Amino acid sequence: MNLSALKRNETIDLLSSSPFDLVVIGGGITGAGIALDASSRGLKTALIDMKDFASGTSSKSTKLIHGGLRYLKQLEINLVREVGRERAIVHHLAPHLVSPEKMLLPLIQDGTYGVWSTSLGLWVYDALAGVHGTDKRQILDKEQTLQKEPLLKSRADILTGSGFYAEYRTDDARLTIEIIKTAAQQGAVCLNYAKATDFIYEKGKITGLTCQDVFSEQRFELRSHLVVNAAGPWVDELRSKDHSLEGKRLFHSKGVHIVVPRSKFPIRQGIYFDVADGRMIFAIPRQRVTYIGTTDTPYEGNLSHIPIYKSDVQYLLNAVNAMFPQQALQIEDVESAWAGLRPLIYESGKSASEMSRKDEIFESDSGLISIAGGKLTGYRKMAERICKLAVGKLGKGNAQSKTDQIELMGGPFTDTKAVKSYTLHLSNRLAQFNTPESTAEYLVANYGRQSDLILDKMKAFQADPKIALARAEAWFSVHYEMASTLLDFFNRRTGRLFFNLPSILSIRQPVSEDFRQYFAWDSKRFQLEVEELEENIRNISHFEEEA
Ligand code: FAD
Repeated sequence: MNLSALKRNETIDLLSSSPFDLVVIGGGITGAGIALDASSRGLKTALIDMKDFASGTSSKSTKLIHGGLRYLKQLEINLVREVGRERAIVHHLAPHLVSPEKMLLPLIQDGTYGVWSTSLGLWVYDALAGVHGTDKRQILDKEQTLQKEPLLKSRADILTGSGFYAEYRTDDARLTIEIIKTAAQQGAVCLNYAKATDFIYEKGKITGLTCQDVFSEQRFELRSHLVVNAAGPWVDELRSKDHSLEGKRLFHSKGVHIVVPRSKFPIRQGIYFDVADGRMIFAIPRQRVTYIGTTDTPYEGNLSHIPIYKSDVQYLLNAVNAMFPQQALQIEDVESAWAGLRPLIYESGKSASEMSRKDEIFESDSGLISIAGGKLTGYRKMAERICKLAVGKLGKGNAQSKTDQIELMGGPFTDTKAVKSYTLHLSNRLAQFNTPESTAEYLVANYGRQSDLILDKMKAFQADPKIALARAEAWFSVHYEMASTLLDFFNRRTGRLFFNLPSILSIRQPVSEDFRQYFAWDSKRFQLEVEELEENIRNISHFEEEA
């Protein structure tokens, strides 16, 4: 079934018509992975999210499919092994969306890593994580490091060399949405803007949910043998509703990233570098920008509005300026920023950055299964654990997961070479439109082979090619990806809000008009949509003073 936002009523009918084997609350990466695993095992599966898919933490991460190098430092050996293997699988399932990104780890006097420990660490890491070929680590001396990254010249005084290894970059929101689309292809019924408001119990056991359609405020019931709470930072809210919030609890840690134009910080590859307080942060080039993050601080505020303070931004700028003094980045250079919450499992006596990123499953007496913690990278394994439990409880469904074999929507691609040749094909198609050279790369990274459908649609819009392309993308996002608001499109479907804010200016008016037409919005709703977009643009580009 297509994830068309225009088929909302049919989807609500499907959700409320017959009982499911398993319903997932939460359309972040965790819930998406579970919906795909469960539906592909033959379980009748539903997934709902109270806002847009991936609108929680799963659009606000560092956007790396990690090999788990940091876990080595914490001696979580099994975790390094598992995430290393997972990374290879996820790359294989969607090489257009999860691609290798070289990372430089500068070694400095009195820094976190020394030459020998890094050499040994990366060697152990390669072996544990099963790293092959050009992804294998290299240790570079000072001269080689400066050749790789001339911007480090201004700190040549403290530089002793570097580690050069591979991370994999992705777009977290796009990955989540492609997994949900793949789950829908396997039969899962998925709906965004549908909030789980209450549990339904029979003899003390959960047998379903009351849901609310956020747009119409209509309530409906959804019956299910099992209910999985994959609500990320909101996991404990639902455990509270189920009166089962006892024992381990969530700890929210806020992480901020900032985005500057590439011209202001033109690094040649990703860099993972030391901060004076003993932490490490990433700077990652991405098309026309470089993004930098992350902070890691305890958070107790509103889960739906996470403020970005000037002090968060300044912390990251200071870190860059200490390692790259010549760049002299200023707060005015920051084009956009985002803040996300890590839903970690609380461990007493540990700071935010020391707390484990491992996932945990909680089962309540009423039968609610909650899953929290974890990483983007481990989504498939988390889903496997939940679905194994579900199959055991239900006495039906395949015992084995086969998600390591199910290519995600946007493919199939055999490997990175196939992605390159498809990008060339798209460049040739785009030649007639005179669009910038980077357009093909952007389209392939976002949509994979679905780009052809978008280019076919471009012809329907008689406009400047840049506008025609944006309108074709908007059409695709509404008809195939359940984009239901302007923000869904500008943020989670295209990444423009974070990575290409200036591009929104020229396309927002025609795209907004298209949305108005698709959804037959009245002027009040249209106005609200436009205001919400404006407010979000303000929030990610103007920073508050901390009270
Ligand atoms: P979420 O994405 O938050 O999804 C939960 C969903 O539940 C939300 O969409 C919400 O709307 C929905 N929901 C809540 N309540 C209800 C309800 N009542 N009814 C219906 N729906 C509901 N991991 C990596 O592997 N690599 C990285 O580079 C990385 N970087 C990170 C950087 C930062 C700053 C942060 C914060 C995290 C990072 N992570 C990274 C971790 C990773 O992003 C998270 O572990 C992951 O996104 C959590 O996904 P989730 O699905 O559990 O939660």
